[in-house]
Amino acid sequence: MARIIDGKAISQKIKDELKEEVARKKSEGKNACLAVIQVGNDPASTVYVGNKKKACAYIGIDSKSYELPEETTQDELLNLIDKLNDDPKITGILVQLPVPEHIDEDTIIRRISPLKDVDGFHPMSVGALCIGEKGFVSCTPAGIIKLLKYSDIDIEGKECVVIGRSNIVGKPMSLLLLRENGTVTICHSRTRNLKDVCKRADILVVAIGKPGMINDEYIKEGAVVIDVGIHRKADGKLCGDVDFESVEPKCSAITPVPGGVGPMTIAMLMYNVVSAM
Ligand code: NDP
Repeated sequence: MARIIDGKAISQKIKDELKEEVARKKSEGKNACLAVIQVGNDPASTVYVGNKKKACAYIGIDSKSYELPEETTQDELLNLIDKLNDDPKITGILVQLPVPEHIDEDTIIRRISPLKDVDGFHPMSVGALCIGEKGFVSCTPAGIIKLLKYSDIDIEGKECVVIGRSNIVGKPMSLLLLRENGTVTICHSRTRNLKDVCKRADILVVAIGKPGMINDEYIKEGAVVIDVGIHRKADGKLCGDVDFESVEPKCSAITPVPGGVGPMTIAMLMYNVVSAM
């Protein structure tokens, strides 16, 4: 039977460690404030924003909310970002994605100062990761590295296969695994013989956005399987990109959905906010 990697418990541990670090930094006169901007009222975004504000309160950091109407123009949003970039009290800026269609996501991401880019999406943050320099790292992949480390799973020298090459998950995930000295293969929708490639993996990270697509036929006996996907099924329950029932008996460790990767994303956002103090 596989070990279930408990993202909820590990993220709680990280938040508790951060809480202590915040108290220590505050006693040295340092402070942090996360500005959270939401445009429109997409219900899922409202939940994510609420959870981020709650996490800030838990670790003892101020947060400031900017809830802007759906019809906010791109220029209005850029002006707000400029104001926050210039405000020394604001140490981190986060624009909840997706933004409405009339606003260009890339333009918004690029306007946030790399010094306050706690999501790690700015090209300078991504570039820093690529060449091994210090900078903010995208929260979900950074959280996966923490999950592996807290679970005493070695990455060095391992065959690591990442399915998905998005800018926020797949690509930074691959770079982080490489930084940890894994031997990394990236798969995507044009990959041939996906099953064979996945079967080479000692560590398989699945970020394809297709509910339950990865079953036991993609898994090497004893592999570690990290499921990044989140989907809501017709019955209201959550599931991932991995068919848990079929994969779990074959692997050595696996993240569940919910309670695996998901909680780590917010914990790592807090990690980034604290590191900017
Ligand atoms: P994207 O849709 O941006 O990327 C999906 C990737 O999967 C693409 O690179 C695509 O290839 C690849 N892909 C799609 N279909 C196949 C296939 N049949 N075979 C091989 N590769 C395929 O998704 P994200 O990276 O943003 O997210 C992935 C999943 O993770 C989603 O379910 C999302 O909800 C979840 N997620 C969870 C988070 C969390 O906190 N737990 C945070 C972020 C995302 P190509 O590039 O060729 O199109």
